[in-house]
Amino acid sequence: MLTIRELPFEAIQIYPSSSFEGREILFRVHHHDYQFLIGNSTHPFPLGVKHFFKEKDICPFCHKLIYAVPLGQQLCLEFQKNLPALLQFFQEEYSDAF
Ligand SMILES: [Zn+2]
Repeated sequence: MLTIRELPFEAIQIYPSSSFEGREILFRVHHHDYQFLIGNSTHPFPLGVKHFFKEKDICPFCHKLIYAVPLGQQLCLEFQKNLPALLQFFQEEYSDAF
């Protein structure tokens, strides 16, 4: 089980999604990029976290071999188990963006 608050998040970008009603958050942990999809702008709910790797590598969380985007975009099963905590973290730390 991940402890979201203890992860060294970097390069966080929060922006409205161009493909659905909601937001997308790009973030980096341990030199790997991830994309967090959040539905609905007024009452946000977490949809999923996808790998957003620039180079083929093993995900340090789910231990899958991930290909560079766009091929490698698939859900990270380890982050999937922690979606509510992840959304709560970003809403608290970046309340201006919500
Ligand atoms: Zn993963």
